[in-house]
Formats: sequence, structure tokens, C-alpha cells
Amino acid sequence: MNRLFNQILASSTYFRKSIQTLLFPDSCLLCGARAPVADPFCDGCRQALPRLDAACARCAAALPASPSPEGVCGACQQRAPAFDRVVAAYRYAPPLDRLIQGGKYNGRLDWLEVLARELAVRVESATDGRVDAVVPVPLHRIRLRERGYNQSLELARPVAKRLRLPVITSGVRRARPTVPQTGLSRTLREKNVRRAFEITRGFDGRRIAIVDDVMTSGATIEALARALRRAGATHVEAWVLARAG
Ligand SMILES: [Zn+2]
Ligand SMILES: [Zn+2]
Repeated sequence: MNRLFNQILASSTYFRKSIQTLLFPDSCLLCGARAPVADPFCDGCRQALPRLDAACARCAAALPASPSPEGVCGACQQRAPAFDRVVAAYRYAPPLDRLIQGGKYNGRLDWLEVLARELAVRVESATDGRVDAVVPVPLHRIRLRERGYNQSLELARPVAKRLRLPVITSGVRRARPTVPQTGLSRTLREKNVRRAFEITRGFDGRRIAIVDDVMTSGATIEALARALRRAGATHVEAWVLARAG
């Protein structure tokens, strides 16, 4: 039922989008003002998108005013994560969070499409050719049935296409539905996602980029990175639309 609802919502979204495109061909997605051709945001809104200024070189967390000389946060210094680095397009903050939430929970696949392009541009400028395949964070089948789509896959597809990389979805699954991470402490988050992923294919010598929409504590990406390494991956990084925290 939920899936059907989301599909109806998504198709009405496309309909609404085409009407909007007819009426306001170059209107900004955030404020409706006139936007440059081929840009979904007007100049003002693009300026207001939350950038990652000082971020940890490893996990992209916000750094204090005087970071360590290596530019790595305290948590990564204490315990090196299972992933090599994180490329994040933006910080998770207004006005971007509204678009991400809409793309994730309200069937706004058209917003996800715009956000995927933002991520692709960011990844393209940061990539060093070390990655040879993309793995979107899988949704548990129950969540997938509820939502009708996996937002991480929706983001991963256009990014991988632009970088001419394969998207691997088979043999990587969520073993159990995790409870939502919001409001959980770091320890509980880690416990929540430990062994959450089951990998039934080899990744020997593969260099993988995990794609997700938002990275908060990093527990999900850490768990998937560990699972990929156990399956043989030699390099694991994460490409996320927005970094929270
Ligand atoms: Zn605008
Ligand atoms: Zn860090």
C-alpha cells in the first residue's frame, strides 16, 4: 500500500514538475525565483547551500577552529575508521535538508535526481581514479517495500553513470531492519548496525565507493565498509550527499 502510495506520489511529482517546467522553465527549486539555465538553484540559493569548510580529511566531520596538523578529527585519530575517506557534497543543514528529506521520505524522486547531480559534480572533482565500482547502502527489504525505492541507489546510479563505473547491488544486503538511528548515542548506533550487512559475493582486490544520502555518526558506513573489507575489498571510500555532525 505504502509502495503504491509512493509510486503515485512520485508520478504526480513528475507531473507537477513538468507543469512547473512548462510555466517556469528556469525556476529555483528552493525559492522559485529565476535560476540560470541548467541550474536547479538561483544564484542566492546556491550561495546559501551549506558547504563543508573545515572538515576531517578522513571522515568529513566538522573540525574545530584549530585542527591537528594532519587535518584529521579526534575520533579518527583515536580509532581509524574502516573506510579510507569520505567525499561529501554538502553539510547537512538548511535549506538542503528539506530536499534530502523530501527525496528520502516523500517520494520526491525529482529532487533526488537534482541532488544526485550535485553529488556527481562533487565526486568528479575529488576523484583520483582509485575507485572501480559503486555500492549504494542497501535498504532492508521491509523498508524497501514500505518506501518503494532506495534513495541511495537513486543517488548512486547517475553518479556511477557520469564516472563510467558499475553499480553493484547484488550480493550486498541488509541482514535485518535496523531501528532508525536518530536520537541514538554513538555506541548504540554502532550496536544497532553491527553485522547489519551480509555480503554473499567476492570483492577481492576491488576498490569501492559506498554511496549514501546522509552520513551522521558514520556507523552505517563503517559497518558496510568493514563487511566489504571482510569480503576482500582493498580500498573503501564513501560518497555522501551531506555530512551531519
Ligand atoms: Zn532560489
Ligand atoms: Zn574524522
